[in-house]
Amino acid sequence: MPPRLLLGPGPSNAHPRVLSALGMAQVGHLDPTFITLMNEVQTLLRYAWQTDNQLTIPVSGTGSAAMEATVANGIEQGDKILIGINGYFGHRLVDMASRYGAEIATIEKAWGEVFTLDELREKLAEVRPKILALVHAETSTGARQPLEGVAQLCREYDCLLLVDTVTSLGGVPLFVDEWGIDLCYSGTQKALSCPPGLSPLTFSERAREMVANRSSKVGNWYLDMSLVGKYWGSERTYHHTAPINMNYGLREALRLIAEEGLAERWQRHQENAELFWDGLAEMGIDCHVAKEHRLPTLTTVKIPSGVDGKAVVGALRDDFNIEIAGGLGELGGKVWRVGLMGYNSRPENVARLLDAMRRVMKR
Ligand SMILES: *Cc1c(COP(=O)(O)O)cnc(C)c1O
Repeated sequence: MPPRLLLGPGPSNAHPRVLSALGMAQVGHLDPTFITLMNEVQTLLRYAWQTDNQLTIPVSGTGSAAMEATVANGIEQGDKILIGINGYFGHRLVDMASRYGAEIATIEKAWGEVFTLDELREKLAEVRPKILALVHAETSTGARQPLEGVAQLCREYDCLLLVDTVTSLGGVPLFVDEWGIDLCYSGTQKALSCPPGLSPLTFSERAREMVANRSSKVGNWYLDMSLVGKYWGSERTYHHTAPINMNYGLREALRLIAEEGLAERWQRHQENAELFWDGLAEMGIDCHVAKEHRLPTLTTVKIPSGVDGKAVVGALRDDFNIEIAGGLGELGGKVWRVGLMGYNSRPENVARLLDAMRRVMKR
C-alpha cells in the first residue's frame, strides 16, 4: 500500500510505536498478562478522558460500535431522547436511536454552528427527554460544541447527557467528570493515532444505575454493557474474544498521551491548527467555522470559487500521497475537510500540505 499522509477526517496515521505494538506476541484473552494490560488500558483511558468512571472500556469495533452501545444501553422502547443535529453524526444518532424504539426529538442548527445553553434549555423544557445527545467535535463540519454548563441543565431537567467525543479525545480539551457527561464514546482512529478497530466508552455511575434498572434487556447482545462489563470488571467472564492485538495498539497510543501530557497535547493540536489556518489566510482561503468554535483536530476549508474541489483531492492523493476529504451533506462540494490529529498534528505536515495545495491549485 502507498505511504499516504492521512490528513482527512479519519483514519489518521497511527504512531510508529503503535504499529509495532500491534505485532507483539499473542496471548489468550484470559491470560493474566492480558488482564494486566486490560487494566492499564482502562487506567490510561480514564486519564485521557479525565474521569474516575469505573465502567471505562474499549468496545470492540470502530467508533460507531461504542456510539451504538451508548444508544442501545441507554434506550428502552418508548424512551425520549433529544438529539442535537448540526452535522452528519447527529443524523446517525437519530438513525441508531430509532432502531431501539426511542421517541426522538431533535434540535437543529446549520452545519458549522453550535447550540447555546439557552437554546438547549428551551428544548429540554419542552421535550423533557431521558437523554440529551450532543456531538462534541462534529467531524463533518469542524465545529466544537461548548459543553460547560450543559450537564447542570440536564440535572435541572432530570436527564442524562450523552456526548460523542470521537474527534476530540486526545486532541481537544475534554473533562468527562468536570463536565458531568454520563454516556460518552470515542474511536481509536482519530486523535488517538491508533488504527480503526476499538472504540472507547465510559458511563458515569448515574448511567450505570439507569442501565442496571432497565425493565427490558439491552436490544443488542454484542454491545450489552452489563455483559461486556463483566469481562472488563472483576468477574472476567468470557463474553466475546477481545481483539487482543488492537488492545496492544491502544495501550501504546494511550501511553504516548500520558508521556506527552494531556495539556501539552491539547496545546500542540491548537498550535498546529493555527499554523494551518494562518497558512490558508496567506493563500486567501477562508475557513467555514467561526474561529471561536473551530476544532483544532478538523478544519473545514472553503473551496475557492473556480476551483474543482474533487480534482484537488485527487491530485493531492495521486501526486503528493496526501489524503484530505471533501464535504458531506449540506457542505458537499463547498468545503475540504482537513484533519490534524494525534501523531499527524505536526508543523512539518502542515507545511507539506500547504505547499502541495499551492502547487495543485496553481495547475
Ligand atoms: C468517525 C466518527 C464516528 C464514527 O466512527 P467510525 O470509526 O467511522 O465508526 C462517529 N462520530 C464522529 C464525530 C466521528 O468523527
